[in-house]
Amino acid sequence: MTSDTHLDLYRFCSRCGSKMTTRKLKSGEPLRPFCENCGHVVYLDPKVAVGTIIANSQREIAMVRRAIEPGYGKWVFPGGYVDRGETLLRAATREAWEEVQLRIRIDGLVNIYSYQDQVPIIIVYGAYSIGGELQRDDESLEAAWFKESNLPWKEMAFPSTSQGLRDYFNGVLHRHLI
Ligand SMILES: [Zn+2]
Repeated sequence: MTSDTHLDLYRFCSRCGSKMTTRKLKSGEPLRPFCENCGHVVYLDPKVAVGTIIANSQREIAMVRRAIEPGYGKWVFPGGYVDRGETLLRAATREAWEEVQLRIRIDGLVNIYSYQDQVPIIIVYGAYSIGGELQRDDESLEAAWFKESNLPWKEMAFPSTSQGLRDYFNGVLHRHLI
């Protein structure tokens, strides 16, 4: 585990308030925040994010340039973290509306991406814009439609952004998986 996985955020025990240490409970497991005083263990789970590749009738893709870290100034398709208790499709639809003011029809699953020592698991859908006007929100510097040939490949915010778009344009879309 590295600092990317936020092990160092757990400084005090949420049960008894003692200082937390870290411990490997079994061989082969990662270090986990551990309280020597009461034995409380914190199991750090991944976070689930959805991203949506949204096409319009001209086969252009909606992208936003991020105004926040990580990935400040770089491009990504709309997406965000799934709230606890929220379905994936609702999260994807909500993020598309909140971030770029587009109403979408989700057509299928593109792929699921995970990376060593990184917290998020990113689920990427393919969708079609059925209403609204592409706009940016306060978490982005701009929003724009891109043809495949004009996509800013060198300025993508995350590995899952490039990989998702490559998969999508290679025809990966599982229409039965939504
Ligand atoms: Zn404790």
